[in-house]
Amino acid sequence: MKNNRNERRADCPRYRTGVNALKALLWPRRCVICHSFLEPGADRLCPACVAAIPEPISGDRRGAHYRRWASAFWYEGAIRASILRFKFGGCRFYAHYYGPWLARAVTQCLGTQFDLLTYVAVSPYRRWRRGYDQSALLAQAVGKDLDMTPLPTLRKRSRVKPQSRTIDHAERQQNIRGAFRIVDPEAVRGKRILLIDDVLTTGATVSEASHVLLGAGAKSVDVATLAVTRK
Ligand SMILES: [Zn+2]
Repeated sequence: MKNNRNERRADCPRYRTGVNALKALLWPRRCVICHSFLEPGADRLCPACVAAIPEPISGDRRGAHYRRWASAFWYEGAIRASILRFKFGGCRFYAHYYGPWLARAVTQCLGTQFDLLTYVAVSPYRRWRRGYDQSALLAQAVGKDLDMTPLPTLRKRSRVKPQSRTIDHAERQQNIRGAFRIVDPEAVRGKRILLIDDVLTTGATVSEASHVLLGAGAKSVDVATLAVTRK
């Protein structure tokens, strides 16, 4: 009886409008990128940020194990702050907004000839602390646009410290060596792989992940990250 009454109330337009107005007052929406307050009911991106979205960035990295890379953004300014909120501030829903831009970077710069979509998983400890794996969320969001379902192929050992706490490229390479192991070699053998990660800095992490995937028999590995640092 009580449930029926609640359902009827939820169907009432005036009730819904009132609830939405209260939500907007208590939790005003902010733009995913610049974090400015938005009009109630507006999309999560302000028009200024949408207008300023750059063309995707891409290149190849000599000496790295992956073939090519593409990124949606430079890792700086408001985008950097946005990604930090996504990774450390609990804003997991940002993945939904990042996904189409990352998918655009993939299709424009790397094409669509992939057999397998996978990602650089965070360690089980980090995942437990954070409550989610941001790379998995990104891969799921990209997969929606590319019509692919991400497969977790790499497992990261918990002893590896975050790359952001390393000092230089040499230490990054040393820290990440042996950090991954393959979950299921059969799943990667002979596959053209698209590997998703959040930020490309020196490329040491995705290079090591690519090395492990190629070692397990993958045909090729291309990398797509949400953002890339200038150096
Ligand atoms: Zn904005």
